[in-house]
Amino acid sequence: MNNFSYTKAYSVDEAVSLTNVNEDNKFIAGGTNIIDLMKYFVTEAETLIDINKIEGKRDIVGLDNGGILIGALMTNADTAYHPLIEEKYPLLSKAILAGASAQIRNMATNGGNLLQRTRCYYFYDIHTPCNKRTPGSGCSAIKGYNRIHAILGHSENCIAVFPSDMCVALAALAAIVHISGLDGDRTLAFSDFHRLPGDTPNIDNNLKKGEVITGIELPGNGFSKNYSYLKLRDRSSYAFALVSVATGLELEDGLIKEARIALGGVSHKPWRVQEAEEFLKGKKADAENFAAAADIILQGAAGFEHNGFKIKLAKKAIVRNCMMALDPSSQRPGAKPSL
Ligand SMILES: Cc1cc2nc3c(=O)[nH]c(=O)nc-3n(C[C@H](O)[C@H](O)[C@H](O)COP(=O)(O)OP(=O)(O)OC[C@H]3O[C@@H](n4cnc5c(N)ncnc54)[C@H](O)[C@@H]3O)c2cc1C
Ligand code: SF4
Repeated sequence: MNNFSYTKAYSVDEAVSLTNVNEDNKFIAGGTNIIDLMKYFVTEAETLIDINKIEGKRDIVGLDNGGILIGALMTNADTAYHPLIEEKYPLLSKAILAGASAQIRNMATNGGNLLQRTRCYYFYDIHTPCNKRTPGSGCSAIKGYNRIHAILGHSENCIAVFPSDMCVALAALAAIVHISGLDGDRTLAFSDFHRLPGDTPNIDNNLKKGEVITGIELPGNGFSKNYSYLKLRDRSSYAFALVSVATGLELEDGLIKEARIALGGVSHKPWRVQEAEEFLKGKKADAENFAAAADIILQGAAGFEHNGFKIKLAKKAIVRNCMMALDPSSQRPGAKPSL
């Protein structure tokens, strides 16, 4: 790890001005990702600005529009176990608790979760070419061992996936990211927050240099009656998703009034296809219609030498998870869906 200075910011304004002093100043929140990246020499900082002392960003506030605003500095654990989240947004709670370990969730913050970097092995190995780490150096994964990599939205420059569980639920819930920077405050729809790799895989998201995430807004509809989060991985705990699915359904007289389906582990950003959700509107909530929606979601999917299996896995995971959403008791640990 390279030497760095450390300082604390006590307000959003102070954090923004401190990070803009030097191109290489960076924020630290829970530190569960940035410290690893610094230890592996993947990233470095002139000064780490600790934002944990900023007041008022560790709680949940109700909004006039019926939604809520979750503080960016609230931990993943406090968020998942907050009574309001458990009651109104259980999909988010489930997704968070599917990630990492209890110890990591106790440290990790919501803002940091959105900004965690890919788990591509080559990205972490500074002795291999990687366009995300060193633009223009090449992509070792395309012809390398690409079992965990993308099947959707990849480019010839990068096939990495975004590893978060929490963000898959946030995509399905149509969250809005609250941001502050030198130019003032702004919001970004969750679907516009993360980027596809294209020609600039080194840029993960549309946050501008020196901006701080202050909160995550959730609209009023938390799909709390019919929801499910399914995470498929090589180990049943403490492993990142090969494929994950977040589903929220609103049903009326046995028909689907509204559907939300987002995929994780398959692309550079949580993958949501509104055409599939439109297709489901007014249809019977059954395996056949969910399978047709899965085909729409996976349109254009293309695998590589070691990850082609993800296409079939994702389609089956979507159907299984949507069926589980019909029976929220299936969210009990170990419960199996009735297919
Ligand atoms: C062993 C291990 C297993 C894991 N498994 C999973 C898993 O299964 N699923 C999953 O989803 N995640 C997993 N994670 C990732 C974990 O969830 C993230 O590391 C964590 O959410 C990052 O939050 P943090 O507060 O620690 O971020 P930090 O490490 O402090 O920061 C991460 C980045 O965000 C920036 N940043 C932080 N907060 C803000 C803010 N408010 N505004 C602007 N910039 C900010 C920092 O500058 C840094 O660039 C795992 C991590 C580890 C170490
Ligand atoms: S997939 Fe992306 S992160 Fe992985 S080696 Fe290629 S460029 Fe780097």
